[in-house]
Amino acid sequence: MAKTYDFTDHKYDVVVVGAGGAGLRATLGMAEQGLRTACITKVFPTRSHTVAAQGGIAASLQNMTPDSWQWHMYDTVKGSDWLGDTDAMEYLAREAPKAVYELEHYGVPFSRTEDGKIYQRPFGGHMQNYGEGPPVQRTCAAADRTGHAILHTLYGQSLRNNAEFFIEYFALDLIMSEDGVCQGVIAWNLDDGTIHRFAAKMVVLATGGYGRAYFSATSAHTCTGDGGGMVARAGLPLQDMEFVQFHPTGIYGSGCLITEGARGEGGYLVNSEGERFMERYAPSAKDLASRDVVSRCMTMEIREGRGVGKNKDHIYLHLDHLDPALLAERLPGISESARIFAGVDVTKEPIPVLPTVHYNMGGIPTNYWGEVLDASGDHPNRIQPGLMAVGEAGCASVHGANRLGSNSLIDLVVFGRAAAIRAAEVVDPKEAVPTPNEASCDKIMARFDKLRHADGSTPTAELRDQMQRAMQEDAAVFRTQETLAQGCQRLDKIWSGLNDVKVSDRSMIWNSDLVETLELENLMANAITTVYSAEARKESRGAHAREDFKDGPLSGRNDDDWRKHSLSWVDEDGKVKLDYRPVITDPLTPFQNGGIDPQKIAPKARVY
Ligand SMILES: Cc1cc2nc3c(=O)[nH]c(=O)nc-3n(C[C@H](O)[C@H](O)[C@H](O)COP(=O)(O)OP(=O)(O)OC[C@H]3O[C@@H](n4cnc5c(N)ncnc54)[C@H](O)[C@@H]3O)c2cc1C
Repeated sequence: MAKTYDFTDHKYDVVVVGAGGAGLRATLGMAEQGLRTACITKVFPTRSHTVAAQGGIAASLQNMTPDSWQWHMYDTVKGSDWLGDTDAMEYLAREAPKAVYELEHYGVPFSRTEDGKIYQRPFGGHMQNYGEGPPVQRTCAAADRTGHAILHTLYGQSLRNNAEFFIEYFALDLIMSEDGVCQGVIAWNLDDGTIHRFAAKMVVLATGGYGRAYFSATSAHTCTGDGGGMVARAGLPLQDMEFVQFHPTGIYGSGCLITEGARGEGGYLVNSEGERFMERYAPSAKDLASRDVVSRCMTMEIREGRGVGKNKDHIYLHLDHLDPALLAERLPGISESARIFAGVDVTKEPIPVLPTVHYNMGGIPTNYWGEVLDASGDHPNRIQPGLMAVGEAGCASVHGANRLGSNSLIDLVVFGRAAAIRAAEVVDPKEAVPTPNEASCDKIMARFDKLRHADGSTPTAELRDQMQRAMQEDAAVFRTQETLAQGCQRLDKIWSGLNDVKVSDRSMIWNSDLVETLELENLMANAITTVYSAEARKESRGAHAREDFKDGPLSGRNDDDWRKHSLSWVDEDGKVKLDYRPVITDPLTPFQNGGIDPQKIAPKARVY
């Protein structure tokens, strides 16, 4: 090793990595229960991607329309295309109202109805009467800045409860004991270059999604799947990685979201021939067909050479035929985003758009308490001691193969809260904090040092670009055996390219070159497990839409062979191993005790 590193040592009952909605809710819950809690975050808490969530948070409060947790559960089961775990989906729907009222009492400034109740709006896939309709108003909102309001409130409350924050600390890896217990985490203080060793009885990963494995993502540049990378390097599996949700209209290049409302107001998509191609694919709904359908059609146009721009790799969204007064009144935010991120005046020119990665259904497998599972086919529900995962980084699994809008924010707070409840049961404040395993710490620092001094010939940005383009082209909305097999090959090659990476900056202070290289390694662990899991799953389900499996009564879904979770491991050489675990089909509450009718949630075709 070129250099040895001195550690600054810390001891806590619980260390939470991540300060988005999930991390902050877990931190607050842990601290409230008297556990000594540290929260480590690479960005300032209120800059976490949760801040960008606009639409809202789902809970069956019944403030505007009739509703019940059973209806919410039904919609979630159906939305998941029957891949979600039934116990976790029940827990989510049942606990959602409590979690929202708690947020209200913590001080989240929800929008209100005339009589002072929390305002709720309709959202896609959320219905009354077990999917029969009409739409239900279930999504609670703080205007169009719900995520922003939640983050600020939870951060303030966490400070009030004496949680300690380590801000702009980059968590490198999990410290694992010789017998496989997680004992803490090592983090790098980006600001002064010191290395910190956090020993803890419980580590909670709340590191968010890995949207940035793709060329175009609506998520922040910091969404690099660091938790997934850490888990993979600890020899633990990731789950259901093939399920990646795309939104049709992210701005080309930046990926910044253009809301569906733009097409709702009359916007339409055209290809390089100036054709409104959605009329051909979906004659009645046209540009307002569902998100996955529109995304797939756009991708087909691009693949067939009818994309626009120099590289023929995107599509135009026209709003310029609409009355400028209407644009100013109804779509001011979109007009501003298009100006800033695409340099486009929407009253005069089309917006360049691309189906854009929006959410990762897969992640670190957990039970509904947030406890990480060291699962395999032989022991599908084995708990990994000392480790939890919550939020988009985790996979409980409530979203299964496809997430419903506004079900992520509720997932963050319900499972952040559940993790705290569980930690209070399994973490004993009187017990000694474990002494970190030196061999594990050495290994972590050896990897760090190797990357810091990496002197190959490929700059990080070049390798990252190759990965993002391969993912965008081969593991996209529209998949075939051919594209996925090609994706596996390309990712194998890019993985071996990691050995030839070049880091130019050797310093320890604000070394963004090294940060991006560490993030690239994390992204690669997520990306390669995504393509391999997708290649292996020979069916269409939710967001995993395969052109070579689309026939039959369930449109290509095959419950007999594939109603099971994918598990994927990746070793140091980039070799991916796959296995499967059964979907949990039993709810928590039996029907006779007020639970959901099992007949209602039995698998059937998913039609809206
Ligand atoms: C544009 C946009 C709009 C959305 N709108 C909605 C909506 O209206 N409703 C809804 O339900 N969902 C919405 N979603 C989805 C939802 O917002 C996200 O799934 C959710 O916010 C993720 O929260 P999180 O707490 O898991 O992670 P994040 O908010 O992404 O936070 C991750 C945290 O982990 C920390 N971190 C990561 N890696 C490290 C590391 N190595 N070391 C230290 N710290 C680390 C980061 O600093 C950060 O604090 C939207 C998503 C996007 C992108």
